[in-house]
Amino acid sequence: MKILADSRTFQNAGSYSISTEAGFFFPSASISNGALNVIDGVIDSVSPKPLFDKVFLFENACIIPRFVNTHTHLEASNLREPISCGAGLLSEWITGLLAFRQSAAYNPENAIVTGANELYETGTSGIGDVVLPSFFFNENADVLQNVKKIACSLPTGIKTRCFLELIALNDAMAETRLNEAKRFLDAVFQCAEYGKTFMAGLSPHAPYTVSPKLLEGVVELSRAYRVPVTIHLAETEEELQLLQTHSGPFCEMMRRFDVDVNWNQTLLGKRPIDYLAALADCERVVIAHGNYLDDAEIRFLAKRRDNMSVAFCPVPHKFFGRRRYPLRQMFDCGVRVTLGVDGRASWSYISDDVNACSDSATPQNFSIANPLSMLKTVNVLLRDYPEISINEILETATYHGNVALGFTDISAKSCCDTFSPGNAADFLVIRTN
Ligand SMILES: [Zn+2]
Repeated sequence: MKILADSRTFQNAGSYSISTEAGFFFPSASISNGALNVIDGVIDSVSPKPLFDKVFLFENACIIPRFVNTHTHLEASNLREPISCGAGLLSEWITGLLAFRQSAAYNPENAIVTGANELYETGTSGIGDVVLPSFFFNENADVLQNVKKIACSLPTGIKTRCFLELIALNDAMAETRLNEAKRFLDAVFQCAEYGKTFMAGLSPHAPYTVSPKLLEGVVELSRAYRVPVTIHLAETEEELQLLQTHSGPFCEMMRRFDVDVNWNQTLLGKRPIDYLAALADCERVVIAHGNYLDDAEIRFLAKRRDNMSVAFCPVPHKFFGRRRYPLRQMFDCGVRVTLGVDGRASWSYISDDVNACSDSATPQNFSIANPLSMLKTVNVLLRDYPEISINEILETATYHGNVALGFTDISAKSCCDTFSPGNAADFLVIRTN
């Protein structure tokens, strides 16, 4: 797949029509041989024939909404190289990540803005980003000031669901984190001026870092404030081993950090389904990765597709050498699948993709070599999962992400409203072969 142009290509064109020979692609609905008509950056209409004299014709191309990246950690966007995971162990990679956070190179404020710009430049407009509490709760400013600072530095055109990461292994820590979570939510809700572009969410990190009390409190806050939740779940075999036997690399990692944990009191259950069940009443839930969900867990998610989804991250999946993702099974069962890029700390060089820039009509850099590019993610899917149709992939990369992050109401059955008259013209022109 290639991006041929985006709406900015035509920003000085005044009134114009874009016509495609292959017809439009709208997730969930196609209009053949249609034209998109725009006046001064605002959608005028969709019509069978171009309405304006100025026509941009793209042969064998489709117009789609911008991509949505439902799972990312932009705090690492200044990293030049990924963090080593040794032989694919997440526990080893986490050790490296924690060292990076202590280093002079770690500058989350700059990295989040850099990463958001990189995402927008490569075709993405919706982001689900996980941010540490230390970013908002520090000596430099109060939480409201910090929320405003980041909200106003993000690029125009981007919608961000900022998930506050929460870690607590005991009740006392859980109380502190929940208190911060409430203050964070209050601060974001006070920033009405950013209400449509900067939104809040909560991210209890993962089963091995979240106590039952913290999880319970997150569900309450999600319902009270009507905000989405995301959690890393069934990401690794190390995690399953910890849940089942209270042993393995995660236990060893905790020991290395000298953390005294009684797993009997910390873990909620023996399987990811225990966590899915505990979170099922949240406003919305994005399960980050879900690489090792079993058949019953996949069916559980499918039944609750109105408020639960998974964020599959194909590029880090390759980076860690995970087992094949049960993507066809998830689609067939009815799971709402979305896509994430994760971030610059866990990506692979993938050199054999098509060169997305080769016949680009724009000067922008849509290169698939870019670690945060959703186009790279989509191209990995197209190549590695040929059993998934292009329509399914595009729907997953756009509409389902918007629903999962709460940017689109569940009743909007497709992304068609992206092209409703009066909306800002913000789209990609792509070639799918
Ligand atoms: Zn993650």
